[in-house]
Amino acid sequence: MKTIVEPHERFPGVYILKGKDDALVTKNLVPGESVYNEKRVSVDNKETAEKTEYRVWNPFRSKLAAAIVGGVEEIYMKPGSKVLYLGAASGTTVSHVADLVGPEGAVYAVEFSKRSGRDLVNMAKKRTNVIPIIEDARHPQKYRMLVPMVDVIFADVAQPDQARILGLNADMYVKNRGGFVISIKASCVDSTKPPEMVF
Ligand code: SAM
Repeated sequence: MKTIVEPHERFPGVYILKGKDDALVTKNLVPGESVYNEKRVSVDNKETAEKTEYRVWNPFRSKLAAAIVGGVEEIYMKPGSKVLYLGAASGTTVSHVADLVGPEGAVYAVEFSKRSGRDLVNMAKKRTNVIPIIEDARHPQKYRMLVPMVDVIFADVAQPDQARILGLNADMYVKNRGGFVISIKASCVDSTKPPEMVF
């Protein structure tokens, strides 16, 4: 059976693997390797006779993928973008963002847990456009030597003061007219209020 992959109609750097159930995929920056055991597919390019490898991006494991599948309007990232990623964990979503922005882009990935940070650092050894930063995102001045002005911040820290953390980082690092994407865990901000009020 022929494998067909098409560019996502709104988000450059994101692709759709066509099939019985379409799947979101990103172009693997390190062909031949999975990051967290995710499925890979190879596609032949008729013109160049080369193969391109893609990695399946599961929306049940990544909130950014879920947002894309759910029809979010903008993600403010594309090939070549610089992304400041807060709450990188072990780097599963970060690895797809690294594929998305490609070799001309960069992902500055901040995570304060040393345990998750170890996996993140290992992932970044091969994905050289990922700069792992093991720091507390509440103190953005601590990584000012590593992070330039960026196009977008993606924030997924699941903390009660997550909006403030995003603001502190945006003040220091987002370019004029840059963007942000935040994943809000309502129960973490205030579990006594209905989520729609927290949002
Ligand atoms: N974005 C990840 C993904 O899609 O693979 C999942 C992130 S998880 C929901 C939240 C992460 O934020 C945890 O790994 C946690 O250690 C980290 N975190 C929470 N507060 C933080 C802070 N102040 N600074 C840096 N990282 C933080």
